[in-house]
Amino acid sequence: MREIDAKIITETVAQMCIDANNILPDDLCELIDDCSKKESCPLAASIFDDMKNNISAARQMNIPVCQDCGMAVVFAEIGQDVHINGASFEDAVNAGVAKGYTEGYLRCSVVSDPLKRVNTGNNTPAVIHTRIVPGDKIKLTVAPKGFGSENMSNLKMFTPSASRQDIIEYVADCVRRAGSNPCPPLVVGVGIGGDFEYSALLAKKALCRSVSLRNPDPDYALLESEMLDAVNKTNIGAQGFGGDITALAVNIETYATHIAGLPVAVNMGCHVTRHTEKLI
Ligand code: SF4
Repeated sequence: MREIDAKIITETVAQMCIDANNILPDDLCELIDDCSKKESCPLAASIFDDMKNNISAARQMNIPVCQDCGMAVVFAEIGQDVHINGASFEDAVNAGVAKGYTEGYLRCSVVSDPLKRVNTGNNTPAVIHTRIVPGDKIKLTVAPKGFGSENMSNLKMFTPSASRQDIIEYVADCVRRAGSNPCPPLVVGVGIGGDFEYSALLAKKALCRSVSLRNPDPDYALLESEMLDAVNKTNIGAQGFGGDITALAVNIETYATHIAGLPVAVNMGCHVTRHTEKLI
């Protein structure tokens, strides 16, 4: 059994919150750069330039890429041979989120109750998803999620008679109805399968996958590319001003499902789809 002090989890999560907000993943920056060269609309191309300048200024000055520093979503794969000393895992993570958001001067956007709406002042609690896995390590993913894009997410319980084209059109329609609200160009996370809540979790996990990696199943990799084409045909463009590039990538994650169902969830990610990983 490996012993891990809860303080290590807290310090790691604190730094990850700051890094995720201030430094976009390299693969996402490269994709934004590549897509900006393909954009034929001059206004959209100039918005891409503004975005690139903003991303590099944030990196150089160590300040957030966006004023909405998001709700902290934390995925943890916890080795079954790990014992955490000093605090519960969730308390350690929330202490890290509080430290990272206050010491890193990140905007705190979390209210303690969805109807009473009092800001907690330190961006806690985080949304924490844990999975017990073999081994003696903890893999952490911190993905701060802005709600301009989160609010445009959607879920549909299709029946198995739905065609591939029905699903592609549903995803494109979600993007069309979202318009400029999720700050395009987007990363679109799609979860297919599982049940009602698990499809939404798959869609969130899809946003945490590198935009340079396609689904390992060639059929789903093709579906990602077909969905991306359909989304880009909406011509919403960068920040909704029209253009060729509405989405940078569509990432699909799948899971087994019931014979009577076909859940499809769309988690909208903006052009600052942030996530960082660490193994401790
Ligand atoms: S949707 Fe993304 S880019 Fe737009 S305000 Fe929210 S976090 Fe920022």
